[in-house]
Amino acid sequence: MPKDADPKLWAQAQKIHKKAIIIDGHNDIPSPMVDEDFDLGTNSVGKFHKDGDPFHTDLARFKQSGITGEFFSIYVSGSTLKTGGAMRRAMDLIDATMREVEKHPNQLTACTTAAEIRRAKKQNKVCALMGIEGGYVIENSLYALRNFYRLGIRYMTLTHNVTHDWADAHRDEPKNNGLSDFGKEVVREMNRLGMLVDISHVSEKTMSDVLDASAAPIIASHSSARGVANHTRNVPDNILKRVAQNGGVVMINFYPAFLDEKYNSDDNDRSARLKPQIDALREQYKNDGQAFNEAERKLLAANPINVPSYTRIVDHIDHIKRVAGIDSVGIGSDYDGVPLLPQGMNGMEDLSLVTYEMLRRGYSEQDIRKVLGENFMRAFAQAENVAKINSRKISGEGSLKKIK
Ligand SMILES: [Zn+2]
Repeated sequence: MPKDADPKLWAQAQKIHKKAIIIDGHNDIPSPMVDEDFDLGTNSVGKFHKDGDPFHTDLARFKQSGITGEFFSIYVSGSTLKTGGAMRRAMDLIDATMREVEKHPNQLTACTTAAEIRRAKKQNKVCALMGIEGGYVIENSLYALRNFYRLGIRYMTLTHNVTHDWADAHRDEPKNNGLSDFGKEVVREMNRLGMLVDISHVSEKTMSDVLDASAAPIIASHSSARGVANHTRNVPDNILKRVAQNGGVVMINFYPAFLDEKYNSDDNDRSARLKPQIDALREQYKNDGQAFNEAERKLLAANPINVPSYTRIVDHIDHIKRVAGIDSVGIGSDYDGVPLLPQGMNGMEDLSLVTYEMLRRGYSEQDIRKVLGENFMRAFAQAENVAKINSRKISGEGSLKKIK
């Protein structure tokens, strides 16, 4: 409980939080499962990834978080566009995630439908859902896309930070003027399957093209509002309005650099200022990544900047509520994918702070439940319906695309 919290309101928030279906749109813990043999049963509090970032996720923390459905991110780096191996990497991550479910059957269960998520809530288990991050993972094959659906993938983020053959990314040169024709075909095939299209990381034009092409609600699995923090990773107001018409959900990312412009620029300034020292440390510890991370962390701690409070998350929720309506906003933490969380949050265990802050600002229980998970549940169920209708219509037609 925050120091200045009202104990009665806090207790009320905890009650609402416990009852709610809570869906988190994005968690990057599968990468350390593969690269560092991380097991969700381990106590990860106070522990750090290989790259020096703190862990946010483990089974005990899941329990405290109240999360019902977690999207484990099958994240594949854009560097695979040069090196190859994107699909192989995705296979490794999917297997590592499913093995965690097999290892911890009393706490975790694999889910692929909205109905299964509601069932898991009754069983007091956490649903392991999966989303692909980086559309190049399908290696330009709709055959592969369909197989990923069969393996349980229920959303695909069309790009990561780099533009590829059929979709432009937020932080790269455009090559397709948004989505190429094949990109549009990918979106339609995802609609037909019931796999949600994710516009996090894509360029603004790609977002717009996706909204034109998609027959089903879309999501931004881990993006905040550009109207509050002007960052290309965030969703601009004109797109927010269209997401509302589309029935989709923008799920707020907790990363301070996406929540707060001031933090972002302070952080960039600090990196520029400390570059000579960081370079020297990198040279000094060039054979010991762990020691370098430790030293870099110490250096940054000795040069602190203001980190925004968790209440900033609710500023973004407020903004989306104002621009697009309460039905268009959700939660997409980016746990274990970001180097830090807002002030007051150590990991997923602190998620109920968001519920408390919404209650403190006068949100009704119904609206809080929408943000925490019901909006996503509605969009997901609607995407399932679109798939049911279209599977009859389109199946067998010429949407089977050969690898370009
Ligand atoms: Zn991401």
